[in-house]
Amino acid sequence: MATGSIDDLAFRESVFAWLRARMLTAEGLTRQQLSEFEFNGRQHRLVGTQTGIWRVKDYSQGAISILTAYSPNEARRPYDDSVGDDGMLRYKWRGTDRMFPDNVWLRTAMERELPLVWFTGIGYLPGTQTQVFRPEFPVWLVREEPDLHQFVVAVDASQRALPAGADDTVIEFARSYNERIVRQRHHQPLFRSAVIYAYERKCAVCRLPFAELLDAAHIKSDSEGGAAKVANGLSLCKIHHGAFDANIIGISPDYVVHVRHSVLETFDGPTLQHAIKEMHGERLRQLPAARSEKPDRELLAERFEVFERAS
Ligand SMILES: [Zn+2]
Repeated sequence: MATGSIDDLAFRESVFAWLRARMLTAEGLTRQQLSEFEFNGRQHRLVGTQTGIWRVKDYSQGAISILTAYSPNEARRPYDDSVGDDGMLRYKWRGTDRMFPDNVWLRTAMERELPLVWFTGIGYLPGTQTQVFRPEFPVWLVREEPDLHQFVVAVDASQRALPAGADDTVIEFARSYNERIVRQRHHQPLFRSAVIYAYERKCAVCRLPFAELLDAAHIKSDSEGGAAKVANGLSLCKIHHGAFDANIIGISPDYVVHVRHSVLETFDGPTLQHAIKEMHGERLRQLPAARSEKPDRELLAERFEVFERAS
């Protein structure tokens, strides 16, 4: 089994530890912030200034990171096209030349089974064109599909063992397993980060500013075909998320909070009074700055009908 050199792996471990620490207080990092990583007394960039595939030459012949840019206006589900028939994610070559240096770095990382970081854009720094990226690590390149100019990516160690020559039942089982892992490890965290970042880590209803107490709620649910785009999301604290899902509160297309009539007539304790009843008739207090990320009014209208029927 081919493996990376000790220095290479130590470098990668230290990158992961640094990212883990930085991500305790942020949803994502800019290219500038990702140029400030220090190892052995020197700063190293963890992503290129423009490109998607990167290596740190001093420590590796193989790529250290891959990157996918943010696309806010995507009407379709933004990540679907990168999933193959086996349920696993794909990452495209740079261009179509298999010997282009970036593609060779990817191949080397695959052959040496090196763990990489996958950076995915989740939004822009407010008022700028500067993208913010969420890191996912470790990921591995496990296979190459040269005809399609792409690599197969494992986002979990369990996806690295491939059923070679397996029968149809096993292949079908592996596919549904991969789909679940990709949803849980990749799509859901990206949706969460993008939504919570767009709301500046605050609840849309009450502005509670603790990311640990926030959820990315769907306006139209995943199971009903709701897209995983920010405009189909709301950053809500645990109480307001629960209340929204249970139709205790509704949000009309003009971004006003409504409390169910029966609840307005109930009197019981400070949480009910301050966290629920006093929100009635108030506009959402926190909204994304970018127009393309504000809650979709048609989706809210659809959802608000459900609330009104329940009320
Ligand atoms: Zn709240």
